[in-house]
Amino acid sequence: MSELSSNLDNDAAVYKTLLESTKAIPWKIDWATMQFAYIGPQIEKLLGWTPASWVSAEDWANRMHPEDREWVVNFCVSQSKAGTDHEADYRALTKDGDYVWIRDVVHVVRNESGEVESLVGFMFDISERKKTEQQLIAMQKELEELSFKDSLTGVANRRMFDSIMEVEWANARRNNQPLSLILFDIDYFKQYNDEYGHLQGDACLRQVAKVLSQAATRPRDFFARFGGEEFVLILPETDEDSAKKVAERCRNLIFKAQIPHAKSVVSQLLTLSLGVATIIPTHHDEPVSFIDLTDKRLYQAKQKGRNCVVNGS
Ligand code: GH3
Ligand code: MG
Ligand code: MG
Repeated sequence: MSELSSNLDNDAAVYKTLLESTKAIPWKIDWATMQFAYIGPQIEKLLGWTPASWVSAEDWANRMHPEDREWVVNFCVSQSKAGTDHEADYRALTKDGDYVWIRDVVHVVRNESGEVESLVGFMFDISERKKTEQQLIAMQKELEELSFKDSLTGVANRRMFDSIMEVEWANARRNNQPLSLILFDIDYFKQYNDEYGHLQGDACLRQVAKVLSQAATRPRDFFARFGGEEFVLILPETDEDSAKKVAERCRNLIFKAQIPHAKSVVSQLLTLSLGVATIIPTHHDEPVSFIDLTDKRLYQAKQKGRNCVVNGS
């Protein structure tokens, strides 16, 4: 043996050892026959299939999750034909019938005349990464939901109100439809807290939210906690008269709930003051001034002696 070929043999042995001791699983497919020329022995530990059982590209495709198979095979074949290195994530079938997330990174080898000769690649086990990814997505979703929800009462929060208001405002303007708003404020709630304690106050807010959120019945009616002991109801495509009726119904529902409030000046029961406004918005109008107007009417309801509704008429 010449020194050169012995060196080459040594190199090959070193490469083989290196390839077979990494976690990534090396493989090679001969392009003309679509047969595996090589696959690292690590494959058996990961998926349970012996290296000898990986004969053709078909074995590879068959050992893939049915939902991933079509796009992965199409993608890899077209990329390979174009001579482009590529990678794909898919679920590989184990011998036990489970699936493992794999990232397959593929290098296209061409001969001197530029034709594709073989594909060589590495399979990486990315199941841990995928698990983390899916956990992150689930957490993100939860966070999104939480960030639009009032944590005390479980109804939508002010932030959600702002978003919905913007959407309904644009809808009403576009369709030339009336949009109504009701603002609620509990009467003498400071005294309620003083009398029954803050925790009971919290429970009372939960109850009021529950009662009021059942008051509006149309699918696009939207209820939220506006802040503190104030709530808000958006009523799309609702005129002044109907909005006033909904407001009165709300006041009545709270009366029917019969929540004791010994320290209220107006009643022995918990009551609300309500401001109602209706608008067909034009380009000159702004949601802020409309909310302001509703708030002014709420203030007037307080001035009038509380436990009442003030609207535009
Ligand atoms: P008015 O009839 O004029 O509305 O009087 P009020 O006492 O209800 O009005 P004010 O706005 O002065 O007080 C509201 C009170 O609501 C003060 C605050 O401590 C209480 N409050 C706001 N948020 C919460 C909460 O999350 N939990 C509890 N328990 N109380 C709250
Ligand atoms: Mg208030
Ligand atoms: Mg109040």
